[in-house]
Amino acid sequence: MPVPTTMKAAILRSYYEPLDFIDVPTPKPANDEVLVQIEASGLCFTDVHIWKGEHAPPALPLIMGHEGVGRVVALGPNAKRFRVGDRVGIGYVYGACGHCRNCLTGGENYCPDFEATGYSTQGCFAEFVCLRDQWANKIPGGVELVEAAPLMCAGAAAYASVKKTGVQTGDTIAIFGMGGLGQYAVQIAKLMGMRVIAVDISTTKLATAIELGADETVVAGDRAGENIITLGGAHGCVNFAPVTATWPIMLDACNPRARIVLTGVPAEEMSFYTYQVVERGLSVVGSSASNRQEMNELLALAASGQVKGVINKVPFEQINEAFNALTEGRVEGRTVLIMKSGEI
Ligand SMILES: [Zn+2]
Ligand SMILES: [Zn+2]
Repeated sequence: MPVPTTMKAAILRSYYEPLDFIDVPTPKPANDEVLVQIEASGLCFTDVHIWKGEHAPPALPLIMGHEGVGRVVALGPNAKRFRVGDRVGIGYVYGACGHCRNCLTGGENYCPDFEATGYSTQGCFAEFVCLRDQWANKIPGGVELVEAAPLMCAGAAAYASVKKTGVQTGDTIAIFGMGGLGQYAVQIAKLMGMRVIAVDISTTKLATAIELGADETVVAGDRAGENIITLGGAHGCVNFAPVTATWPIMLDACNPRARIVLTGVPAEEMSFYTYQVVERGLSVVGSSASNRQEMNELLALAASGQVKGVINKVPFEQINEAFNALTEGRVEGRTVLIMKSGEI
């Protein structure tokens, strides 16, 4: 099929305004880029922060979106890694310098010069997108299209966080916050052979965590840390809840030398007595997005068909309604835009 000269795209022109859903010229792949026809595109809360100007992009107008999945339809003159027809995923990291200390040691997502899809480059709320072939993620056959889209950001962030705990097979991870990332983390930690304690204030969400494979649940509250210790304590904790209330619980719940991984970002400061961390030799680590190796590992796990999200499918042309629902907190799970009507 020849690539059409124009495509539908949802464009952010000014903050807090509905996205402009119009026809724009289809981009052409330059140099090492591939042109991907997007089939499914996930909405992420980072898009809401960009839309509000809280995480202001370098320039407007902008096509947001960094959870895209689609097929390669054209190759730039120096793109060698893919063939037309290959199915690829597009995540938050569009590219990085490739030669700084971070890039050379598995920390490309912390490169000071990293570019973000749908933020510093045009993203996936469009029928087509260009990306650099070295940064496209090959989607294995076992992963369903709609399931693959949210893995590109939410799933990858959850995977990288779980991995950073360093929890060994058979040891215990406590996962705080059973929203989208927490739900992925439970499934991923189980596939990695960990014993999982799910923690949330909502008993409904904890019931879902059990369905997803959690071994134990603890309601977040005054005695939560003690309750986790009674269950044997945690060898690692991950926090996805954007609140500070989980922090003292995690400190109480840790076994000696446990690692606490912080992924959710509360607006307030957190405090602690240094002694609590020193005495038990705890580590506290931050985690943001993922590198390509972590993405490949996640996709390999997901090829088993055992990493599933709670997904709402929405036709692309209803992006503004879907975006409002996300902004107003009316969405359970992840929203995925389906680009071709008739495929829902
Ligand atoms: Zn995201
Ligand atoms: Zn770099």
